[in-house]
Amino acid sequence: MGENNYGFDTLKVRAGYNPHKHNYAVSVPIYETASFELGNTERAGKLLSFSELGFIYSRVSNPTVAVLEERVASLDGAAAAVAVGSGMAAVTYSLLNVAEGGGRILTTQKLYGGTIDSFNKLFPKYGIQIDRLEESDNSEAFRNAIKEDTKAIFIETISNPNASIADIETLANIAHENNIPLIVDNTFATPYLLNPIKFGADIVIYSATKALGGHGNAIAGLILDSGNFNWGNGKFPQFDEKYHNLRDKSGNPRSILKVFPKAPFAFRVRLNYLTYFGATLSPFDAYLILIGLETLSERVQKQVSNTEKIIKYLESKDKVSWIKHPSAEGSPYKKLKEKYLPKGAASTFTFGFKGSLDEIDKFIDALKIFSYQANLGDARSLIINSPKTTHGELTPKEQGLAGITPDTIRISIGLEEADDLISDLEQAFEKAFI
Ligand SMILES: *Cc1c(COP(=O)(O)O)cnc(C)c1O
Repeated sequence: MGENNYGFDTLKVRAGYNPHKHNYAVSVPIYETASFELGNTERAGKLLSFSELGFIYSRVSNPTVAVLEERVASLDGAAAAVAVGSGMAAVTYSLLNVAEGGGRILTTQKLYGGTIDSFNKLFPKYGIQIDRLEESDNSEAFRNAIKEDTKAIFIETISNPNASIADIETLANIAHENNIPLIVDNTFATPYLLNPIKFGADIVIYSATKALGGHGNAIAGLILDSGNFNWGNGKFPQFDEKYHNLRDKSGNPRSILKVFPKAPFAFRVRLNYLTYFGATLSPFDAYLILIGLETLSERVQKQVSNTEKIIKYLESKDKVSWIKHPSAEGSPYKKLKEKYLPKGAASTFTFGFKGSLDEIDKFIDALKIFSYQANLGDARSLIINSPKTTHGELTPKEQGLAGITPDTIRISIGLEEADDLISDLEQAFEKAFI
C-alpha cells in the first residue's frame, strides 16, 4: 500500500497489513506461536545478526503484533512503533531507555496515578530522579528546571484525570534547545484527536487499554518513535554502545544508531527492554486492539459529542461545584484546545460533587448505567471516585498537587444514548440527597 497517500480512516482499517502475504485472510490472523522456524542455518545466521529482519521468537516480535505496531505508527506519522504488554510498560520502558544509568526526567504533577506511583517508588531506585513541576501550565518553568543531567521532558498531552492540555509545541522547542527529547503520553487523545509528532514530540506513548482499543477487553501499550530526534548528540551514550549481536560481515560490533538509524529509540526498546525485561503483548490481545482501532474515529467522535452534552447537563446542576474539561465553561484550556484538539478534548473529565462523602457514595451506588470501575475510554460510560481509587495510593499532599480534591468524581463517557446517561445521573443525584 502507498500508505502515505491515504487518509486516517483508510489507514486505521488497512495500514500495516497485506492479505496477499497471509493466505489472503481478510481479517488479520492471530499468530499464536511462541517461535518461528529459522528455515536453514544460513537464514538463521542472517536473522540473528539482524542483516535480515524476520520473526524468531514472539517475546521480541510477532506478525499479528507487528500489524498493530505498523498501523498505529502510520496513524501518528511515526517512523516505527513497539507494542508492549501494558501502558505502564510503555511508560517505564520509554523512560528507562532514555535515562538508564542515571539522569533526571522533568515532568509535572498532573499524571496518571500509576505513573506517579512508579516515579515515587521505583525510578529513583534505578538511579533516575524525577523533577515534578507544580506550575505545569507555565512553559518557562520547564526551561528553568532543566539541569545538566535532565534526559527528557515527559508530559501527558491531556492529563489524567482533570483533562488539562499541555502546550506541546512550546515544550518540544524547549526540549530541543536543550538537546533532549519530548516524550508524551497521548492516551486520552488517541491519534484520532491529536498527532503530537506534528507538533514536535519525539516519542509518543499509549495505553491501548483505553480508547485506542475502546472495548475494555485487553491490556496493551505502545511506544512510537518519530525518528526525528538526534540520539547521537552526545547526551545518550547508550545509543552508541556497540553490541556483538549487531556485528557487521567481518564481525565488528556495531551500535544501534549505525544499524537502525531511522528509528533507533524504538529498536533499542525492542532489542533491550522487550527482549530482556519481557513485557510482551500477546498476539490475541494485539488482535483485540486491532479490531477496536477499526472504529476509532467513529467511537471517539460520538464520545466527544456525548461528553459535551453531559457537561452541559452537569453545568445546570447546583450539586456540581466545578467541572474540569476543556469544553466546560470557563476552562483555562480553551486556547490550547483550539490549537491542539479542534475535534474535541476526549471523553474523560472530572467534576466536584457538592455533598458529603456519604452522599458521594450514595450517588455512585444509585447509578444504573454507569459502570463503577477504574478503566476509561471504553464503549461503556464509566465513573469512579478518584481520591479513593485511581489516585488512592497518593498522600493527601500528593493528591492536592495532582489536583485531586476529596470531592472529585471522574467520568469517562461511552457510546450509549446521551439522554439515557443524563437520566441516570439525574435519578442518582435525587437518591444521593434523600
Ligand atoms: C491507564 C493509563 C496508563 C497505564 O496504562 P495500562 O494499560 O493500564 O498499563 C498510562 N497513562 C495513562 C494516561 C493512562 O490513562
